[in-house]
Order: sequence, then C-alpha cells, then structure tokens
Amino acid sequence: MAPKTLLAEVLSGQKVLDLPKVLKKALSPATIALLFAIGGEAERQRAPLYLVGGFVRDLLLQRPNLDLDLVIEGDAIQLGRTLQKRFGGRLTPHQSFGTAVWWLPEDKKKLLRNIGSASKQKSSPQFPEFIDLVSARQESYRRPGSLPDVKFADIRADQYRRDFTINALALCLTGLRAGQLLDPWDGLRDLRRGLLRVLHSKSFSDDPTRILRAVRFAARLKFKIEPSTLKQLKSSLRFMNQISGERIRRELELALEEEKRVQVLQQMQKLGVLKSIHAGLKWQSAMGALLRRLIPSSALQVWGLENVPFTDISFVLWFVQLPASVIAAITDRLRFTADMRGGAVAAARLRASEPSLKKLSTSRLVSALEREPLISVFALYLLNSNNKFGQKLQRYAKEWRHIRSHLDGNDLKNLGLKPGPDYRNILERLRSARLDGEVKNVAQEKALLKKVING
Ligand code: ATP
Repeated sequence: MAPKTLLAEVLSGQKVLDLPKVLKKALSPATIALLFAIGGEAERQRAPLYLVGGFVRDLLLQRPNLDLDLVIEGDAIQLGRTLQKRFGGRLTPHQSFGTAVWWLPEDKKKLLRNIGSASKQKSSPQFPEFIDLVSARQESYRRPGSLPDVKFADIRADQYRRDFTINALALCLTGLRAGQLLDPWDGLRDLRRGLLRVLHSKSFSDDPTRILRAVRFAARLKFKIEPSTLKQLKSSLRFMNQISGERIRRELELALEEEKRVQVLQQMQKLGVLKSIHAGLKWQSAMGALLRRLIPSSALQVWGLENVPFTDISFVLWFVQLPASVIAAITDRLRFTADMRGGAVAAARLRASEPSLKKLSTSRLVSALEREPLISVFALYLLNSNNKFGQKLQRYAKEWRHIRSHLDGNDLKNLGLKPGPDYRNILERLRSARLDGEVKNVAQEKALLKKVING
C-alpha cells in the first residue's frame, strides 16, 4: 500500500504531528534546529509560537516553500531582539504592525554552533535568508480597502484576519500543544478538495487585493474558487478603486512572477479583475505568446538587460499591445516609476511606427532606436523575433549600437579642425557611413572625412 500523504494522515484524525518527522520533509536539519531554538526563546517569554500561512499550506501539499512565517502570542519585536542578541544577524522591526524580519547572520556554521546543533557537514548548513516574526493580532477595517486598525490578540484572531482557509492554518511549535494543527475554518478539508474559500463574507471588500491573490493561488495550485467565494469576489470588484496603485502593482508583479502567469492573467481578464483596475487594462492571448518568448532568458543577456527585474520587462511586453495613451493612464494608476512608464509608452510608440522603421537605412534605424529606452526596443524585437526586422533589431543590440567611427576627436584636431559642435556632426556622419557600409576601413573613412571637411 502506498504511504499516506501527510494531508491524508491529518484528515484521518491525526491532528497532533510529530514535528521533527514532519518538518524533515520540508526543511534542512539546520533550519529545524533553528526553529526549535526560536521556540525555546518563545517559551522563555511564556509566549506560544506557531508556524502559519503559506509554509503550513505547502507543507501539507508537499510543495517546497522556505518562507517561514512565525506568529507569537506575545511581542514579536522583543522575540526578534532576543534572537539577534543571542545568534546575531539583523532585525528590521515594524513597530506599528508589531512585526519584525530577522535576517540570519552571515556565518552559518557559527549560527549552527550557537543553536547547539552539532554538525559533521563540510558544506555550509542550509538556512533561510530571513524569518518573519509576527505578533498575533486582530485587524479591523473602517471602510472597504482601507488599511486595517491593528491590535494584539490571540492566535485564533490572527488566523481570522487571513485571506483563505488554506492560508489560515497554524502549527504550534511550543509547549503542550507542540505539533498541534489549528484549523478552525476547515482549511484542511479545502486543501483536500482543492478549494479557495474566504473566511467571511466581507473578506474581499475589506481588502480587495485578496481578489488578485485568489486568482493567483487558484492558478498556482490548480484549485477552484469556491462558488460563494466567487460570487463575493465578483461583487467586490467595485471596491478595487479604493486600493492604492502601489498595492495593486505589487499584486500584479506577484502574478507575473508565477510560473502559471499566463493562466493567472487570463483568469483575471475573464473575471473582470483587470477591468476593475483600469477600464483599458486587458489580457489577450497574443500577450501570452509574447511573454512566453521571454522565457529562454539568454535573450536578455544579448541585450544587456539581464539585471532588469523580470517583472519590469513583463509589464512592458504585456502593455506593448495597448494604445500608448491607455498605457500612460494605466501606469499612472499603478504608480509606475517615470522610467517604467516611459519604457512602456515608448515600446507602444515603437510598435506603432514599425512600418516606417522597417524602411530606414541602418544608420537611421540606429539613430531612431537610440532615442528610445533599450527595454522598449527589446519589446519591439520580441514582437518580431521570427522575422527579418527582428534579426536587424538583434544586430542593433549585439553590434550596431556599439559601433563608433574609426576616427575620433583627436584625429579631427590633428587635421587642424577647431574643436566645436561640428565635431559631433562630423563623427556622426562617419559613424553612419560605417553603419551603412559606405566605408569599410580606416583609409576609406579618412577619405570620406576629407570630402566632408572640404564640403
Ligand atoms: P506565497 O507562497 O506566494 O509566498 P503565502 O501564502 O506565503 O504565499 P504571503 O503573501 O507570503 O503568502 O503571506 C503570508 C500569509 O499572510 C498568507 O498565507 C496569509 O495567511 C496572510 N496574508 C497575506 N496577505 C494577506 C491579505 N491581503 N489578506 C489576508 N491575509 C493575508
């Protein structure tokens, strides 16, 4: 008989888990030892500690996840300070939320010794980069879409402020309840059925960003949005305009980072989510095709764009098929930086002028492209990656944009030309001649220079 999955085991009644055994399936021995050390600190502060959220969900689904969210029924910042004092690292506290991020120290071997775990490992022990520490809290919303009022509370209230039942599970790490799974809203059942369900009927209107989260998780986990949750989702779309551009943009970035990004955006289109963000925002299948071309990311290296965030490029590719005026309005709504806004609008402008660009000589094409952000020219390239114009754009990236004239200002000076604005024009003329194949070597360039000077 096949071994039972962890989810099947807990659903068949085993709600107290053998923590070391269960955590071993998801975490390195070093990280487990660290969790117990943190638990020890919490116990000294007489404050129960829980693993919560996505990590617990993914532990049960047997999906990899190293984002550890810990909730303490006490003061998370105080816990963080104690951890920092004992084990090192850095703490980023957020006083108004009662949360802190503990960045683990660089020296991982020393950390392992400090938590009292012996290791014969030669390689560096595996730890996450940081751990989120949260004081159990209750949140209330004055009006749809407002930021919540927060007050310290117990784990149950903390679970209740969460988005979906499958994200509201808590696994106790300390005291007599160590190993107990707290599941007051039947998240385990929804995990088994593959359902996303909100905890209460005001969930989406309290925080409409949960609408975007629902669609994202549904696509990632191949879950369905439970019917009454779906109904509430649709009727809460009208509150999307209460959400700041930054928050919506962040959610869209997360959508674009998903492996199933195309499905997420398709579904957002189908449910009217994109329209609720901005009337002109849409998703069409051609956009998916373009985004897929980005995936062998070696293209980015050729273009020198490998350090540009993946989501920035994805936004430009998504928007390039919309009219420039609509892009300007959407990027304003989503509070893009001026650079990103400029890049997205320029890409659409380039696309619109494609027929005339195709007719230009190499030098004229280069000078037109050089006026635009590289990311926008790259979008034009991906739109044309299967045709001749695309090959030209690829040459622009690899070769043409780096070409200069053989001669430089010193050569002009040596010829007795007085330095001035003409220098630039002359050198540009020489560069164009080189780009267009009019001159092929230094001698020919010198001959051209003489001609240019003598008018
Ligand atoms: P991922 O795997 O994408 O990181 P996650 O579930 O860990 O997913 P996070 O955004 O890291 O999601 O948030 C951690 C937890 O915080 C969630 O599991 C959920 O319980 C809670 N949470 C996050 N955002 C919201 C929200 N907008 N409303 C309610 N609860 C939220």
